[in-house]
Amino acid sequence: MQEKIFRKGNVMTAEIEKLKEWLDESERIVFFTGAGASTESGIPDFRSVDGLYNQKYDYPPETILSHTFFKNKPEEFYRFYHDKMLLPGAKPNPGHLKMAELEKKGKSLGVVTQNIDGLHQAAGSEKVFELHGSVLRNYCMKCGKFFDFDYMVQSDGVPHCDKCGGVIKPDVVLYEEGLDQDIINGAVSAISRADMLVICGTSLVVWPAAGFVNYYTGNKLVLINKSATQMDSKADLIIRDPIGEVLAQV
Ligand code: ZN
Repeated sequence: MQEKIFRKGNVMTAEIEKLKEWLDESERIVFFTGAGASTESGIPDFRSVDGLYNQKYDYPPETILSHTFFKNKPEEFYRFYHDKMLLPGAKPNPGHLKMAELEKKGKSLGVVTQNIDGLHQAAGSEKVFELHGSVLRNYCMKCGKFFDFDYMVQSDGVPHCDKCGGVIKPDVVLYEEGLDQDIINGAVSAISRADMLVICGTSLVVWPAAGFVNYYTGNKLVLINKSATQMDSKADLIIRDPIGEVLAQV
């Protein structure tokens, strides 16, 4: 039976109490976040099993979100992108806010994220290594002009540049595309200097997440994820509850 610690009317589990203790004593915390860190903000994990895909789309999301597909079938790419990736109502949840707060206090080296939703920045985080890019940045493939999130949301079908008519591409790393080397270097540097690594909402199956985590050499590796991951055996602390709910308590 799990030990419960009661405080201020809330039930705090022994795991969350331990997390709080480690966050308090650590000085170089790095958060590594995946889709599960944004589900409490209403952003669905596009990899999760969803019958809708079968009804609405002729291809699996991994195919649609590939470089080849974007080039060959931009209309279909953007139909999916509008439905599943551009979610204008999304707001940071208590998890994002806590990570930003710890950075402001000088206790965190930043966030390494697989997410492209920009919610860490919206919460106030400044050091964010966006491994897969961001839906907030978009560029004309012909002239390079920048377009913001709102322009994409308001566009219908395939968005075109208002200056030269070129097709606009989100600054998002699609399948088959490489990651940005500077961002990789920054993320590796932060993780290897961290005295605490908190992995939130990722099953670590998406390359190269698992590889990054191996750069951590400390003894406070925390996993907050609803299901088991291949890192579980290496973790010093595992919490199975929703990230926002957990971090709101510490
Ligand atoms: Zn253009």
